[in-house]
Parts: sequence; structure tokens; C-alpha cells
Amino acid sequence: MRAMVLERPRTSLVPRERAMPVPAAGEILIEIAACGVCRTDLHVVDGELPNPKLPLVPGHEIVGRVVELGQGVEGLALSERVGVPWLGATCGVCAYCRSGRENLCDRPLFTGYTRDGGYATHAVADARYCFPLPERRDDAEIAPFLCAGLIGWRSYRMAGASGSDAGAGPRALGLYGFGAAAHILAQIATWQGRRVYAFTRTGDEAAQAFARSLGAAWAGGSDEMPPEPLDAAIIFAPIGALVPIALKAVKKGGRVVCGGIHMSDIPSFPYRLLWEERQVLSVANLTRADAHEFLALVPQAGVKTAVRRYPLATADDALSDLRTGRLQGAAVLIP
Ligand SMILES: [Zn+2]
Ligand SMILES: [Zn+2]
Repeated sequence: MRAMVLERPRTSLVPRERAMPVPAAGEILIEIAACGVCRTDLHVVDGELPNPKLPLVPGHEIVGRVVELGQGVEGLALSERVGVPWLGATCGVCAYCRSGRENLCDRPLFTGYTRDGGYATHAVADARYCFPLPERRDDAEIAPFLCAGLIGWRSYRMAGASGSDAGAGPRALGLYGFGAAAHILAQIATWQGRRVYAFTRTGDEAAQAFARSLGAAWAGGSDEMPPEPLDAAIIFAPIGALVPIALKAVKKGGRVVCGGIHMSDIPSFPYRLLWEERQVLSVANLTRADAHEFLALVPQAGVKTAVRRYPLATADDALSDLRTGRLQGAAVLIP
């Protein structure tokens, strides 16, 4: 198998030939068809997340087919199309796992961070954390659902929205940072009848036009105020300075949800921005229940993804395009 490998943080990925991995009990071997590139990969490669497995194959938006079943695997079949997300495994016994919050597990494994991921031709994964995927959609177009879609969905739920009741939760929703996650979530939120306000880098008119094309009622720079006060805002950009900015834009009782795994420091701000029961929350990881709920909703909402395909060997180019904001939608590696 071939893989793009991170040997040390803050260095380029190196192409490596490796022995084909053998699935252990409970694992599957997957022949990868596409792997999305997520901002979290950038944080791992840039050394902003502590203690990655090294050397590491990054990537946690894997779409592929099962080519070998480890002992005892149930519910998945050879040649079935599956997705592998960020949550690679949980302990199943800690207080979080036992209370339906496996996203906060005390002893988790994360794909492409603490176990090898999908910047490769093949990967092994714990079968219990993989999802069967519909056969009809293009591999690359479906890959961003596995993290950008899922983390957007969990953030949306934390902002007060509901999967089953479109009338519940925010009517006016702000999205700060219009990348892979926001471009999927904007479609779901507008499909549910919410007014979406998209905030991009100041002057990024291409991203603003992109947001409007996906249903945003308004798009502008993050230094602008939206045309109406927001019920909730989700911050996808890894920029702590957006927290007080978003607090200014939400109304009394409103929520500001931070959707990323890493953010620059949040500057101090006057208490009056938080007062009147405004809340700031973070979102961590995903549960398998989030994934089942979200993947069932995607076809109903008719969500489309904008992807740019990169050959596996050019993974560094994809990461650098993401780092500099030269991307619209999501980058996907094709082995
Ligand atoms: Zn646990
Ligand atoms: Zn991710």
C-alpha cells in the first residue's frame, strides 16, 4: 500500500510504501476511494494538537470498500461501501460512554491522529465505528460528510436546532468561516427554513458569492454586523477573536458555538457582551448517533458538496490550499 506519512509535526508529508495492514479482530481493511482533507489535519500537521501517533497517516474522512473482514466483524460485508470518521474507537465503559456522550470518552482513538487514517490507498478501522454509505453518490463528493458534515451537524444541534423539528431552534443563524463545514450546514439550515448569515474573511467576495449560492440570505465580512440580530452563531474559523465579535451579533439568550478543535486565543472582552444569558459553547468530536442522524438527513435535504480533487501524492498542496484559504468547499485526496 501507499501512504502519505507525517514523520514529525511541521514537516512535509512523505510518500511511503508500506506492508498491507492486516485487520485484527473487530477491524476491517478498506480500499480507499477518497479521503477528505479537514482543517483538523492541518492542526495535526502543524503541531497544534498534542501527542499525535508518529509516524502518522493523517485523514479522517475516508470513503472506501471493505476488502477484508477481521474476526468477529458483524454488520458489514465484503465490497460494501463504508465511511470512516474521526471517532475511531471509544472505551465503552467510562462515565461519558455510558451516558450517551461517547464523543467525550476518556480513552478514545481518533482516526488520522492517534491511529492511522486515510491519506493512503488502504486503511484498517474498527468496524463498530464505520458507517455503511449509500451506493449512488460519488466517492469524493461524499467524503466531506464524514467530518465537515458531522461536526457541522453537531454544532448546529448545540446551537439549538433539531433534526426532527425544523421549527425548533434558531431562526437567524450566523456561520463564521465559510469552508467545508459551513457549505454543507448552510444547505441543511436553509432547507429547514432558517435564515443563514455567512461571514467570511473581509473582502473575500468569491466566498460570499459561494455562500449566497448555497442559500445564505446575506454574506459579508466578519467585521460586519448581520442585517438582523442572530439567535445563534457557529464559529468554524479557528480564530478566537471571532468569539466576542459573534457575541455582539447574537441577541439576548443567544448561543455562540465554537465548532473547531483548535482556536487561537480568545481576547478579553467586556462582560456585557456575555450578559443577558448569552452562552459560549464548544463542540468536541462526534457520536455515532450524530452520524446516523446526519447521514439520514443528507438525502432528504438534497445536500450537495463542492469538492476539489487532489491526487494522493499532492496531499501537501491540498493542506496548503486549505491553510491559505484558496479553496471553495472541500479538498479531497484520490489515491
Ligand atoms: Zn469511554
Ligand atoms: Zn475533521
